[in-house]
Amino acid sequence: MRAAIAAENMTVAYDDFLALDNVSIDVAPGESFGLVGESGSGKSTLLRAIAGLAPVANGRIALDGKTLDARDKAFYRRVQMVFQDPYGSLHPRQTIDRLLQEPLAIHGIKDAERRILRALDEVGLGSSFRFRYSHQLSGGQRQRIAIARALIIEPEIMLLDEPTSALDASVQAEVLNLLEQVRRDRKLTYIMVSHDLGVVTHMCERLAVMKSGKIVERLSSPDLIAGRISESYTKNLMVASRGFVRTAASA
Ligand code: ADP
Ligand code: MG
Repeated sequence: MRAAIAAENMTVAYDDFLALDNVSIDVAPGESFGLVGESGSGKSTLLRAIAGLAPVANGRIALDGKTLDARDKAFYRRVQMVFQDPYGSLHPRQTIDRLLQEPLAIHGIKDAERRILRALDEVGLGSSFRFRYSHQLSGGQRQRIAIARALIIEPEIMLLDEPTSALDASVQAEVLNLLEQVRRDRKLTYIMVSHDLGVVTHMCERLAVMKSGKIVERLSSPDLIAGRISESYTKNLMVASRGFVRTAASA
């Protein structure tokens, strides 16, 4: 099957430091693909490189098998990113309405009324949130708004960079369930970064393990859960994710 999104030989350099070193991934339509690895291994850089937010020195992105020439508006209509920090990513003094209008205006989308109500409903907040300010919301509610802002333009692909790691554990589970529900309902394709192997095996079919800007191992979630791992680096990540080891051991 043709990949919904493929990144080939992506390389990102900051001066002479290679943050991403010739990395390739491809993700099938409707698939959720995970990126794991220690802090600083290049996970965010890969997502940012795909989104055109990092200085790509080399590499190629293809959507549905067609190579992109540039990240133009049409690209961002199809590919949206959600960041880790829902405080940094939303302007605190804007109403939710204004925050949701913005992507619609950028893309020249007309049916704002219907889309805003649908997006609020879809992320489980409802229309009563429409004229509140983002500084009045909890972390989990803000992240729901960040997700609504991405969904409102009806993308095909979502790039999710630790979308729940800034949230309390109970709220994390709710937001992960929301993301999973939305993926199924809208048949979306995800690339999701998490340092939590439990989250990745729950949310993703396949994953890549990153270290020092490279992919060191590719696994399916069942492989990871069953401990079918070749790299000691990956085993150490499992040990570091102690809750995960407990879950895996009792499975
Ligand atoms: P991860 O998301 O896996 O924790 P990152 O992709 O954020 O890691 O970072 C990978 C490496 O690239 C790190 O060493 C980081 O310090 C470096 N890096 C990331 N962004 C920049 C930048 N804008 N300028 C310089 N170095 C950067
Ligand atoms: Mg990161």
